[in-house]
Amino acid sequence: MNDTPERKIPPMCQHQPPCPSADSADRESARLVAHHPEQGWSLLCNGVVLFEDTGELLPDGRIIDPHRPLDPSRVMTAA
Ligand SMILES: [Zn+2]
Repeated sequence: MNDTPERKIPPMCQHQPPCPSADSADRESARLVAHHPEQGWSLLCNGVVLFEDTGELLPDGRIIDPHRPLDPSRVMTAA
């Protein structure tokens, strides 16, 4: 056993079940807490800023490059 303390997310998320953390691969599925389509960005419950080009700004300042999800109808035929 090791007693490494778990990293806790700031008590920003009041949802049940809790939203994925900003470190999670699933971070984009956190709830929207602010949506500014006219400015092209949204703030997620876990502190991630999601841009409309699918780029992300994480709460710790990291930038995630845009990674547009493939349209499901194209995944099947993707070469
Ligand atoms: Zn939440």
